[in-house]
Amino acid sequence: MYVALVAVVPKAKLTLNGPTKSWAGKGSSGKDVHRIFCSECGSPIAHDPDAAPEIIAIKAGTLDSEIKKTLKPDTEIWTVGKLPFVKESLPNAFEHMPS
Ligand SMILES: [Zn+2]
Repeated sequence: MYVALVAVVPKAKLTLNGPTKSWAGKGSSGKDVHRIFCSECGSPIAHDPDAAPEIIAIKAGTLDSEIKKTLKPDTEIWTVGKLPFVKESLPNAFEHMPS
């Protein structure tokens, strides 16, 4: 996948229902990022970074279509790896993960 749409939300306001599992791996901060996925089908659901414990990044592709239509993306990260055929540019762009 060359573009991943994520919705960053306050973790305290998010409730995940249904069976999930998580796997932790080091993020670019050096701290763990917990990758939460559906334990039945393996679909990625969210990234929960220890480096920013107040937020969680939901894989926006999992949201209902009507909700997705209301999203207004304004930030892109990891543009250092942006592929030449990706022409969209958002107002806030970071070559790497902003700290
Ligand atoms: Zn599933």
